[in-house]
Amino acid sequence: MKTFNDIGLNKEILKALGEMGFEKPTPIQAKAIPHLMSSNQDIIASAQTGTGKTAAFGLPSIHMTKINEKVPQTLVMCPTRELCIQIARDLTNFSTYLPGLKIVAVYGGASVDTQVRALRQGAQIIIGTPGRTKDLIKRKKLILSDIKRVILDEADEMLTMGFKEDLEAILAETPYEKQTLLFSATMSKRIISITKKYMNDPIEISAARVNLGAENVQHLYYMVHAKDRYEVLKRIADSTPNIYGITFCRTRKETKEIANKLMQDGYNADAIHGDLSQAQRDEVMERFRKRKLHMLVATDVAARGLDVNDLTHVINYNLPDDEEVYVHRSGRTGRAGKSGISMAIIHTREIGRIRAIERISKIKFSCELVPTGKDICQKQLYSLMDKIKKVEVDEYQIEPFLPTIYEKLESLDREELIKHFVSAEFNRFLDYYKNSRNINVSESPRGKNSKPPRERVSQKERRKSTFASLFINVGKNNNVSPSRLIGIINEGLNSSDAVIGKIEVMKKASFFEIEEKKKAQLIKALNGTVVGGMKLSVEVANEKQARDEPTKSGSHSKPKSRGSRGGNRDGGQRGGNNKNSGKWRGKNSSAGKGRKKSQ
Ligand code: ADP
Ligand code: MG
Repeated sequence: MKTFNDIGLNKEILKALGEMGFEKPTPIQAKAIPHLMSSNQDIIASAQTGTGKTAAFGLPSIHMTKINEKVPQTLVMCPTRELCIQIARDLTNFSTYLPGLKIVAVYGGASVDTQVRALRQGAQIIIGTPGRTKDLIKRKKLILSDIKRVILDEADEMLTMGFKEDLEAILAETPYEKQTLLFSATMSKRIISITKKYMNDPIEISAARVNLGAENVQHLYYMVHAKDRYEVLKRIADSTPNIYGITFCRTRKETKEIANKLMQDGYNADAIHGDLSQAQRDEVMERFRKRKLHMLVATDVAARGLDVNDLTHVINYNLPDDEEVYVHRSGRTGRAGKSGISMAIIHTREIGRIRAIERISKIKFSCELVPTGKDICQKQLYSLMDKIKKVEVDEYQIEPFLPTIYEKLESLDREELIKHFVSAEFNRFLDYYKNSRNINVSESPRGKNSKPPRERVSQKERRKSTFASLFINVGKNNNVSPSRLIGIINEGLNSSDAVIGKIEVMKKASFFEIEEKKKAQLIKALNGTVVGGMKLSVEVANEKQARDEPTKSGSHSKPKSRGSRGGNRDGGQRGGNNKNSGKWRGKNSSAGKGRKKSQ
């Protein structure tokens, strides 16, 4: 493999890389950097999270910057504020020995004046989120007429989040003659087809899907009733005294709920999601990076691209909608030769999804039993005993207190002393787990235990929000997936705030629920727009449409009754790639509170 030196990066960059401990390029860097330095051809590059994409576009951009020209030459767009800051930090590190090179991050939730001042000083590389970038262009504070290259980092995420219009507006401000680079962890055909519009004869490059560290990751799942998910999380935390991990949830709402519960239960946890202010997000990330926080609860988008090392655990509180996303999530542990554990908490009907992940990723899962109360108490006690044995004793500091302490404990002999001491530390645990249940359930789909009693909960929960059920004339045949449908809805509403309920994607059409108050706006926005060559038609669902959509199994029932029975409701996909069967219904039912596309 080539070294950074062989690639021909200038010596200032090489010096910084040396100090940062970058010895040789990662596969995506080895492919992308030489191309960028020698050709103007556009690139679509995909490589998993953690494979060094930032340096893959950042190093050549820095190398090619004309430092004496104090105008923006490179524009990097990314979906979140954190990512923006992180990319700016990485690029700043790479250019430590290029004092004339200025890198500025522009993102919402922070003072616009500070950013304007920074831009005025002649930045050559701009890293921005679409909203703030567009805003600064409008105010004429950011002039893109000399841009040589535009990089869309986490491009797929920006598009699914509904930033398409902003991106188009921004790109329209850049010169026609430029290089456009797309970097992403996942790259679906749909994204490629959308982005080709922005690109000129791009070459596609990708690097091996799996991280170097992936062989160090152990994958396992716990199978429980959906209502016991939180209990499992708690037990995992209790049985892993040194846990340092991310728990992935599906929605902002769930993220908040789980983090709040954990905090109330005394865990060192917090959440990161799109509803937090910039300062709050920074504060949470800072604590997590410094390991003052042990469990970060996050949505995929909020955690996307964030570079946090040495995680011991990745916990899938819910499986992601897309199998590939599981691979990205789990790639956050087991890095740099360290071992890590990626675990999924599933209910019986999700075993098919575990198998689907195994098929696409060559990952092998083991089924583990949720630790029992006894296991947990044992782990905790033994870990404490180890700590006590190893603790450093500062004779001098404790000396003055000892005589009184000896006196107070005089009546206890050695064994009694140990018992008291263990109880003082552990009564809370022992009490909590004294009568703990076995919450594991069997894998048999017909097993007595296997029906998760979640629908009852969801029905009740669901009544809290009023949803309208809508019909849309695109489905799987038009490459529409549930997440794509969320993207279409968000793009239509120009925001990702709408609460979306159940989604059911069939072959030629789909049904979905949207909060009643957004119904009219959405119908108006979407009707007549074109998606994948199809002119959209959206209307309030009625029973006729439900009957008209034929399914293979012929057992499709009315949207009204959806949610009341199990089974494969998505006639087109049986067995094999059983991606949607029961899944959407299941998740929405168990969350029961509708969904938001989180940021
Ligand atoms: P991605 O964008 O693909 O998710 P990042 O660019 O955030 O990945 O990089 C992940 C981590 O790997 C960062 O901590 C980065 O500093 C480190 N890294 C990147 N390239 C190299 C390299 N060639 N050698 C050593 N570490 C690297
Ligand atoms: Mg990245």
